[in-house]
Amino acid sequence: MSDLSNNKTCLVIGASHAGVNLAFALRREGWPGKIILYDTDTSLPYHRPPLSKTYLSHADSLEKNVLKSAQSYVQEQIDLQLGVKVESINREKKSITLEDGSRQSYDKLVIATGARAFLPPISGMDTAKHLYSLRTAEDALHIRNGFQQIDNKNVVVIGGGYIGLEIAASLKKMGGEVTILEREERVLSRVSSEELSSFFEKLHTDNGVQIFTNKNVAAINTTDTFNEIICSDGARFTADMIIVGVGIRVNEELAAAAGLEIKNGIKVDATARTNDPDIFAIGDCTYHHNPHYDCHIRLESVQNAVDQAKVAAAAICGREVTYDSIPWFWSDQYQVKLQIVGLSQGYNEVIIREEKDKDNCFSLWYFNLDRLLAVAAINHGKAYVLGSKLIKSGQQIDKSKLADPLEDFKPANLLLTSK
Ligand code: NAP
Repeated sequence: MSDLSNNKTCLVIGASHAGVNLAFALRREGWPGKIILYDTDTSLPYHRPPLSKTYLSHADSLEKNVLKSAQSYVQEQIDLQLGVKVESINREKKSITLEDGSRQSYDKLVIATGARAFLPPISGMDTAKHLYSLRTAEDALHIRNGFQQIDNKNVVVIGGGYIGLEIAASLKKMGGEVTILEREERVLSRVSSEELSSFFEKLHTDNGVQIFTNKNVAAINTTDTFNEIICSDGARFTADMIIVGVGIRVNEELAAAAGLEIKNGIKVDATARTNDPDIFAIGDCTYHHNPHYDCHIRLESVQNAVDQAKVAAAAICGREVTYDSIPWFWSDQYQVKLQIVGLSQGYNEVIIREEKDKDNCFSLWYFNLDRLLAVAAINHGKAYVLGSKLIKSGQQIDKSKLADPLEDFKPANLLLTSK
């Protein structure tokens, strides 16, 4: 690549899935200027999904999970500044100030600051022993090391969302005695249907993890040897190690202090632009419109980070591509692979399709009247792929055929229009 010195500068705050993909997408789009990518994390940017799974259980190294090799940043002339905190954004001067007081001016700025693990104000949490949350590779390492140090391997996980369930499955595999405390009446209540929650509760129970729902952790008392967890209904649990997985908080403070519009995250338009035309925001920290579902959402997912990165990179380079993705997620727990496509909010019917002669292979199809909104596939890649196509096409489905495992699982057979 040629000399960049006369060209413009794009600064990217946050070097995780969103920021890193944006930087490389900018080069693909032909951005000829400087790209400087900042992150407070000191590790070469890595994939986050394995942190609660293979990385936690030591099956994988961080090196194996890097998003791009160190060499790729050099090749693409992306200046990766690790261990650097951006303190503020000055929109008038179009510059940012770093922790050491130095300034860097920009032509375009991208905020990809993501989110952090939420630590609720539970009394006694600050003095608890072996209490961890998980968001970064360093957090995962602390959990792994802490787990090795404790004698009885008695772990309580506070929160039965994806993070709590995935960590519970990993620590169970590693030999832990694991208990999950969830304050809602079912696990995964924020993100899934009752049917899916029941499936995961049974899966964990079958694997020896205890789950207690309607348990709001209110306090922790710590003695020399263990922690005692006290719930608001008076129930008590002892733990050598505590994992707190009770949701996230968006890292939106930099954007808010700079006067950017905030609404359940940093508000962006279909090109990932904020209310400042030279500032974009992408990934977990954004609140954006999803045209397919015609609603504003904030998505905590790798796919959204990658998709918004592509859209923003194109817009920065003067090519207008608008965001129009159907969200998808996945989770691995024990031998189960869950894949979800679409947003199930607003469903009024769930069709369950269980495949013949196959254990733990089924799919949940969420409808609002005749409109297919989302599909959750358990160990069923085919259902996930088919569901993705049908959600996108908006074609109507014969629900009775869908529910019948004897019916061929092909669009030509399942579509009402094919009759
Ligand atoms: P989450 O989905 O918000 O689940 C946290 C759960 O903890 C909620 O059900 C919450 O109940 C409960 N809770 C809160 N305070 C509690 C208390 N004091 N006692 C007991 N339970 C309590 O968040 P998460 O599982 O921590 O996930 C964090 C982030 O990581 C999310 O962005 C998630 O999408 C992401 N993640 C995703 C994946 C994946 O897609 N496979 C995997 C791991 C992590 P309330 O709803 O009542 O607050």
